[in-house]
Amino acid sequence: MHHVTLIPGDGTGPEITEATRRCLEATGVKFDWDVQECGIEVIEKLGKVPESVLASVRKNQVALKGPITTPIGKGFRSVNVYLRQELGLYACLRPCKTYKGVRSFFSGVNVDLVIVRENTEDLYAGVEFQAGLPATAELIDFINSKATGRKISTGKATTGVSIKPMSYEGTRNIANFAFDYAVKAGRKSVTSVCKANIMKFTDGLWYDETRAVAAAYGAKFEQPELKVAPDAELAGKTTDASQVAYMERLIDNMCMQLVQKPEQYDVILLSNLYGDILSDLCAGLVGGLGVAPGANIGPSSAIFEATHGSAPKYKGQNKVNPTALILSGKLMLEHLGEKAAAEKLEAAVAAVIAEGKDVTYDMKPHRTDPTAVGTAQMADAIIAKMQSM
Ligand code: NAD
Repeated sequence: MHHVTLIPGDGTGPEITEATRRCLEATGVKFDWDVQECGIEVIEKLGKVPESVLASVRKNQVALKGPITTPIGKGFRSVNVYLRQELGLYACLRPCKTYKGVRSFFSGVNVDLVIVRENTEDLYAGVEFQAGLPATAELIDFINSKATGRKISTGKATTGVSIKPMSYEGTRNIANFAFDYAVKAGRKSVTSVCKANIMKFTDGLWYDETRAVAAAYGAKFEQPELKVAPDAELAGKTTDASQVAYMERLIDNMCMQLVQKPEQYDVILLSNLYGDILSDLCAGLVGGLGVAPGANIGPSSAIFEATHGSAPKYKGQNKVNPTALILSGKLMLEHLGEKAAAEKLEAAVAAVIAEGKDVTYDMKPHRTDPTAVGTAQMADAIIAKMQSM
């Protein structure tokens, strides 16, 4: 029996969460669900995320979560970002895999990528200075007075500044996570991606550290010219990643490579902002947000959720595709050590998609196709498929 926190979220969240719960139970694995309401209505009423939500995830260490809406311009920060930061979920895992029957521009290309994104640092740390505020002018004066060779020459009252903090520790943690994952999942390569030619002290640090971690794991350097910094601390990892290749690519080049030859890449290791952007690009390669699962993982807990948002315009219509959250549930089964159940669930999802009959509107050749089924009925078809296996 696995004790799992279940956060239905809001918008279309409750519908896809219910569909996923039923599919997970149909694998035969036993769950004790602790349902925690944390949708936008609850948060607006309370003025904050209920304490019980964090307490439940801390206790159970695993949560399945529907999307939660972020109100625009009401002073709330994203609840999703808040949960990741409060729980120290530093690693975001987003597999992007081609399933036969999913329509995309890349149908026929076998895409099987895994994005590993750092979740807590970088421009998303939220350290921002608004144009026109005294603190911003003070910061600009401070920067201009330092002999860095660079000055902010635009107006002090008309310039906003966002800070990009990146640490050796944060980079090491996510790089360790990527190599541990690559070894465990039998992956061929880890590609470290950034823009070190422009941002030498943040993205340069990123390459220094991911390279040092790759060397500590004994990974094969695809580019022999890459040198580990002489003062790098090699952690002496016990995991043997000598079968995993280590590569580096600049983010702009990586975007082009991924649309031209995605099959050449495997695990892609990125900092927060680049990871966010590339996740959507890779989801697009395999058919869009409807099939893009995700996990946010920390040292003591993990939240499994789809990449997409709450799609509020479809709320209550039993219309949207539950696949992304069901595949997030498959990642959760793997995390819980239920490998056979995870394989069975993925095989059933793949079979239902390949048949193309009991699928939601977005998976039909035309979005107005009258044969499209609802969220709950697609889950029924997946459950029936598992029962027939
Ligand atoms: P969205 O992903 O909710 O929806 C964008 C469009 O994608 C939808 O209109 C729909 O056409 C399509 N879509 C999304 N999910 C689908 C599904 N399962 N099946 C079929 N079609 C689907 O993005 P948005 O409109 O930018 O965001 C809505 C809200 O969700 C915002 O408040 C945003 O902040 C929030 N959000 C939450 C999370 C999260 O909870 N982790 C993630 C992203 C966005």
